[in-house]
Amino acid sequence: MLRAIYPGSFDPVTFGHLDMIRRSSSLVDELIVGVLNNNAKSPLFSVEERVKILKEVTENIPKVKVVPFEGLLVEFARKMDARMIIRGLRAITDFEYELQMAQTNHKMEPQLETAFLTTNLAYSYLSSTIVKEVAAFGGNISQFVPEIVEKRIQEKINKRRV
Ligand code: ADP
Repeated sequence: MLRAIYPGSFDPVTFGHLDMIRRSSSLVDELIVGVLNNNAKSPLFSVEERVKILKEVTENIPKVKVVPFEGLLVEFARKMDARMIIRGLRAITDFEYELQMAQTNHKMEPQLETAFLTTNLAYSYLSSTIVKEVAAFGGNISQFVPEIVEKRIQEKINKRRV
């Protein structure tokens, strides 16, 4: 049984992430979407909100479980009994950091492998940060994120303006 973890902040989840979840879940027996509790970075959405949204948008994708985590990814992988980490590579700019992380994790936990999927060309430009910036300036983000994310971001922005 191959269980993999796809970790990230998902603040918020985009169509790029969803594409990765769909494609990587078809390669493994179980895919755990690990949602990083990074409150120190003051995310737009709390970890509970991000988990809730991810559960909603992945409910029709088989073999996917959404689980929050904090601390070391290798510890989380051990706890979940997962042997593989999945990450996405968008561009050369992602590469150096991702390579360093993968090698560090492998050093700490030699049983754990990191597998990279290259992003779908259609979404290779897309990041959560860009989505938040476009939304903050009133731009239309419907082509970047699921409808529920669009609604939640709008609610957040309206609240912040009050
Ligand atoms: P992190 O804070 O760990 O970078 P993100 O939520 O930004 O978390 O991303 C999680 C994973 O999804 C990373 O491996 C990242 O490369 C990948 N990813 C982010 N945006 C896209 C995209 N548009 N297409 C495919 N993969 C993506």
